[in-house]
Amino acid sequence: MEKSNELENLVIIGGGPAGLTAAIYAGRAGLEPVVINGPQPGGQIINTDELENFPGFPEGISGAEFGSRLLEQAEHFQVQLDFNIVEKVNFKDKPYTITTSEGSYQTRTVIIAAGAQPRPLGLEKEQQLTGEGVSYCATCDGALYRDKRVAVVGGGNVALEEADFLTRFARKVYLIHRREEFRADELIQEKIASNKDIECLYNSEVVELLSSDGRLSGLKIKNNQTEKIKELLDISALFIAIGYEPNTELFRGQLELDEAGYIETSGFQRTNIPGIFAAGDIQDSRYQQVITAAASGARAAMEVDRYLQAKRAEQETQVRV
Ligand code: NDP
Repeated sequence: MEKSNELENLVIIGGGPAGLTAAIYAGRAGLEPVVINGPQPGGQIINTDELENFPGFPEGISGAEFGSRLLEQAEHFQVQLDFNIVEKVNFKDKPYTITTSEGSYQTRTVIIAAGAQPRPLGLEKEQQLTGEGVSYCATCDGALYRDKRVAVVGGGNVALEEADFLTRFARKVYLIHRREEFRADELIQEKIASNKDIECLYNSEVVELLSSDGRLSGLKIKNNQTEKIKELLDISALFIAIGYEPNTELFRGQLELDEAGYIETSGFQRTNIPGIFAAGDIQDSRYQQVITAAASGARAAMEVDRYLQAKRAEQETQVRV
């Protein structure tokens, strides 16, 4: 949709819990925001089997249902949804410009809530085998590996939760971690220790992906204490769960990013550019929870409202003088 003739109050980039919560707040404040959420709105959470820690859902809720409810709620409040992908932004000149494959928006303010994505291991053949045994989402792909032998790499909450989840389907799960101890919470560590279908390989690194007929078939693993390499054969899937990378490539050179590439925000969701705010995982390497993303989206929308009110008051004063 070509929008370049109109000046928007607010364009929100990203349609996950942060972006859609911002949209609900901004919509209710009468800002008529645009949300550019790509072809599959809802954010990473739609890949989660069961969301159990969002207050108000004592029985839990599936990630997919949660995502679609957020979208439905945003639609109640005069939010315009755009299912295209942002290709370019210009935050150097006002009004700010956001360009998608279908056209561009001119806007007074922006909330960036484009999230984060799983970090790759960076192995040769990793990209080629993605979807052919290599996966970044056990919830999405785990059921494909019923009665198979699979592996998970990582030592955080996500890796351990995925390993535990995979034992619902797989015959055997290897949990490969580069150090002697996991960084995940104690509770999930205890669950892993008592699950007889999981074998933990500590001080271990995946150094090569083995394949047969274009599919993953095994792994070469190095023990980083002894430097010994062993082959783990008959492995149908490798789930990579080694953290996330923020989706900030589009904003490099336009905004201040921290060393890990996350957007730097002040306590008020402000970036270093007036009128540009950020919310959710793209500016939060620490918590990365649905509730914290949603909360930061609400804060960002309230800050946008304040910013626009202050700008309006400034203009009125200038007219009077
Ligand atoms: P984390 O950053 O917590 O863990 C990443 C893991 O991957 C670490 O064990 C790290 O090893 C390992 N790792 C990183 N890079 C590599 C590499 N190149 N090769 C091998 N291993 C590597 O990320 P998660 O995705 O697990 O979690 C993200 C955030 O979400 C965390 O804050 C987590 O606590 C939170 N979370 C909370 C949940 C809950 O509360 N129930 C559920 C899921 C996530 P090392 O330890 O050596 O650094």
